[in-house]
Amino acid sequence: MHEIALCNSLVGLIRDQQRERGFARVRRVIVEVGVLGHVDPHALDFAFEVEAKDSPAQDAVLEIREIEGRAWCMDCSELVSIAKRGDACPGCGGYGMIVEQGEELRLKELEVI
Ligand SMILES: [Zn+2]
Repeated sequence: MHEIALCNSLVGLIRDQQRERGFARVRRVIVEVGVLGHVDPHALDFAFEVEAKDSPAQDAVLEIREIEGRAWCMDCSELVSIAKRGDACPGCGGYGMIVEQGEELRLKELEVI
């Protein structure tokens, strides 16, 4: 379950932020998760709870925002939306696609006290 590893680095980032900004606690954590990244939001939520224990983010609400998948189609020479990795281009049906967006997990915002 790679959600544990993701949340481990997420909590690491939050600790770095705490050192820089000097807040006491985190109330809400907003992350952007690409739909192509094989991240299960429920597993992520659970993993976050485990990893955030005894950290400034303990009891914080994890808000997950999904980012759509986008890929560059080499045949159409344009960016298209895809639902999952390996999908064909909705324009031409081809598979000459380079994924541009949708595999990342990004810390977007921290609501702190
Ligand atoms: Zn295409």
